[in-house]
Amino acid sequence: MAAADLAPPALPAPLAHRLRRALPWVLLVALLGVAQTLLVVLTIDYEAARAQERAEAMAAEAGTEVKREVTGGMQALQTLQWNPPAGGRWAVEAGALLSRRRAMLRVEHRSSTGEVLDAVDSPYRTPLFSLMPRHQMGVESDLACASARRTMTPRFSRSYFVPQPGGLGLEIMDVCIPLSVAGSDSGYLVGTYSLPGLLEEALTPMRAGAYELTFIEGDGTRLARAGLQRGAGVYQSQRAVDLAGTNLTLRADSVEVRPRLIPNLSAALVMGLSAALFAVVVLLWRDVRRRAKAEGALAEALAFRKAMEDSLITGLRARDLDGRITYVNPAFCHMVGFSADELLQANPPPYWPAERVAEYSARQSMRLSALGGGTQSRQGFETVFTRKNGERIQVMIFEAPLVDREGQHTGWMSAVLDMTEQRRVEELSRQQQERLQATARLATVGEMASLLSHELNQPLAAIASYATGSLNLMADADAQTLDMVRGAMLRIAEQAERAGRVIKSVHGFVRRREQAREVLRVDHLIESVLPLVRLQARKSGARIEVEVEQPPARVLCDRTMVEQVLLNLTRNGLQAMEGEALPLERRVLRIEARANGPRWARFTVADAGTGVAPEVAAQLFTPFFTTRNEGMGLGLSLCRTVVEQHGGALDFDNHPDGGASFHFTLPSPPSSTAATSSSSTDLQTSA
Ligand code: ADP
Repeated sequence: MAAADLAPPALPAPLAHRLRRALPWVLLVALLGVAQTLLVVLTIDYEAARAQERAEAMAAEAGTEVKREVTGGMQALQTLQWNPPAGGRWAVEAGALLSRRRAMLRVEHRSSTGEVLDAVDSPYRTPLFSLMPRHQMGVESDLACASARRTMTPRFSRSYFVPQPGGLGLEIMDVCIPLSVAGSDSGYLVGTYSLPGLLEEALTPMRAGAYELTFIEGDGTRLARAGLQRGAGVYQSQRAVDLAGTNLTLRADSVEVRPRLIPNLSAALVMGLSAALFAVVVLLWRDVRRRAKAEGALAEALAFRKAMEDSLITGLRARDLDGRITYVNPAFCHMVGFSADELLQANPPPYWPAERVAEYSARQSMRLSALGGGTQSRQGFETVFTRKNGERIQVMIFEAPLVDREGQHTGWMSAVLDMTEQRRVEELSRQQQERLQATARLATVGEMASLLSHELNQPLAAIASYATGSLNLMADADAQTLDMVRGAMLRIAEQAERAGRVIKSVHGFVRRREQAREVLRVDHLIESVLPLVRLQARKSGARIEVEVEQPPARVLCDRTMVEQVLLNLTRNGLQAMEGEALPLERRVLRIEARANGPRWARFTVADAGTGVAPEVAAQLFTPFFTTRNEGMGLGLSLCRTVVEQHGGALDFDNHPDGGASFHFTLPSPPSSTAATSSSSTDLQTSA
């Protein structure tokens, strides 16, 4: 069998961990249990010992008391011998004695032969020998008297039982005192004690409820008892009462029972305390468990937070109210190239460019006071940091107040984004855009140049022919001829001026490069491109129709760029109508401009050409896509870029009866609704 099979099955790790944690608690509870049990047992034992001690003390005290009573009675009896027994005086003294000592029931004067000469009974009860005559009950007292005579000292008889009226009986005991007159035997004095009476004398009323006192015989038989209740037989004590001639055994028996758990005051107290202790232990245990749980959750939350902060690519930075850094995450350290230790508590921070510390400090205090004043903004601000290696980085910072658990404002939390790369890409894209525009412009210019040469050929040819004609006419000039020459010169000037206008328009288009946006009326925009559009339209013999809604809307735009958009769209429209198939009268290019709500103006360039084929439509705005041999495929992509840069949109649709419309929108300045002109006539032109 493999060794691994012999090993006891390992507990699952969480269970083993829980057992390890529970073990001290189990031990603590077990120890507490043992301690509490011991305490209760000891307390009960102590109570029992005390009760036993009290019973012993009671027995001793009662024994002494009985002895005192017996001895006192005997002494009082002895005083009676000085009275002449036969006289009435003796009886009186004896009666007085009996009324003083309740435990003594009868006094007899006997002759030396034992005859009862005189007897007095206790006034408190029926005479002792009313049921049985004395001589039938005299054995014990006779024995005592015989013994007394021998020793010439008082002797006690053994106790004996005397029946009483009503079926009762009484245990009594005699004391016999020998009398002698001038050394000769002159009889006896016999006193009879009631054993219950003796016990009652020993038992004060206060103790009568707590103890039962009994005289018992050697075998435990009760002879007499006193006490309000029977003894419980648990706490008892016996004492021998030694009397001359006999022995009495006195037993004190407490009515107390063995202490039970709950009725016992001390035990109850101890139990209560134990219960409270257990409750405290349970509460403590639950509290510890709750704490352990909370600690676990906290540790988890902390671990989660740390993982989150470490994985973030956003830099996090906390500052106190004085602007000192109190926390940075790894992303922030990585961004600025300083370690957390170099950054913490630093003021001013080492990533501030040295030459701008004063400016940044002023800005920081201004921002913090503005944020503290409740004017928190979700908008971030851009600034420049210096990395440890001296490199400059462009960052975007979002800042918010830090508020602790009591709602106290303790500092500021910032999220920092490194914008350097993004800005670089934006700059690159801007430069590319500019290059693209320049290229497109150059392409347009090239095209324009060929058109220009074509257009200028006509006026120049006209100029040349007018000039040749004028020279011929001037050879043999008369007045009429001079008039004709003047007319020819005027034509020359007109054609030259026209040629100049064409050149100026192209020049203006090519040179206007600034990006500034201005507010322009839509009709002015259209008018500024119209000469060039007309120039192009001649080639295909198309008519140009312009319709501007009155009052003309105004737009906020870059003039040159929008003119280029219009030129590109019109040129595309005109080129679409160039084929042989389209009859001349249908070759119409419409340019429309109208307001599109209060915030936008909408331009439309509609032609009656071939329309945009579906396969072309899919790539229409892709740069360098073209279907024309001489085309560059940049026109529409440039148009869309320009329009979108202005916040507008460019789209198109095909007409059901042929042709396509291109639409684009441009933003209107807020006051454009208050435009000035109120004329509603349409500007209708044809080329
Ligand atoms: P280019 O004019 O240099 O070809 P554009 O980007 O202006 O580049 O146009 C791309 C293509 O879109 C054109 O080659 C043409 O096929 C198509 N197109 C543009 N405008 C129209 C129009 N109004 N009607 C039909 N097709 C058009």
